Amino acid sequence: MQITEHIHALKIPFKIPVGPGRELQRFVYVYLILGPEICLIDSGVKSSDALIFDYLKHLGRKPQEISLLLLTHAHPDHIGSAGEIKEATGCSVAAHPDARAWIEDVEQQFKERPVPGFHDLVGGSTSVDRDLQDGDIVCLGPLALEIIHTPGHAMGSISFFCKEEGVLFAGDAIPQVNGLPIYEDAATTAESIQKLKDIKHIRQLLSSWADSLEGSSAYSMMDDGLQYLQRIHDSIRDMAAKTGTDDPMELCARIVKVLGLPEVAVNPLIARSFISHLRIIDREKLL
Ligand SMILES: [Zn+2]
Repeated sequence: MQITEHIHALKIPFKIPVGPGRELQRFVYVYLILGPEICLIDSGVKSSDALIFDYLKHLGRKPQEISLLLLTHAHPDHIGSAGEIKEATGCSVAAHPDARAWIEDVEQQFKERPVPGFHDLVGGSTSVDRDLQDGDIVCLGPLALEIIHTPGHAMGSISFFCKEEGVLFAGDAIPQVNGLPIYEDAATTAESIQKLKDIKHIRQLLSSWADSLEGSSAYSMMDDGLQYLQRIHDSIRDMAAKTGTDDPMELCARIVKVLGLPEVAVNPLIARSFISHLRIIDREKLL
């Protein structure tokens, strides 16, 4: 789908196994910036290369014109076909230094963050050719992207702001209200959202998990994300005061219930997000 003159979005569906015979339907957006060369933002899950290449062919462009793959962070649905795309196109791969280890050694990532179905989602390890730091500018022919370090969801998370078009690519930096809360650190996630909110003149917000949002809706989505994080924090503080928080999975089950999230949210990944609130349990406000 065309978003602006140069930017296109492609929605990639995938499934996560969550139990015997049970699958969670998910999707992830990847973005293409079309200039004399092509820049791809995130690669989608394993084997997304076929969808991406077909889309480009449909536009009359060749997959081999992809010269740069920017990775917002190292999670499976963002790096899953990075290796396949790099091999087919010879593109450079760029990411934040804090994401590098999990991109270059996916078995290390699996060991440290064993997402269900990991090996169905990730094609393999890929070398990173270029480090992207906060404030760096990536020039892409007609457009330029400013790198904004937005840790929290993942420590190596980065967002990209294209000033010329007022487009912010936020990856997974902003949580989805009433969605599965997945982050390494609640306070850092909130600070990163505030950092994005402080950007003036965002005309379009392109995240990995939502359709594009324009103007004031973009800022509202960030406000909503912040409020959701604060609501989770309030619930965990309340729970800690009443019943204690010794067993992480027990805490997870209780908070999932309080938040009205589906049963599938009671899992170690979400427990990890909730535990990050315990590190700042004395703090009333996240920001
Ligand atoms: Zn993610």
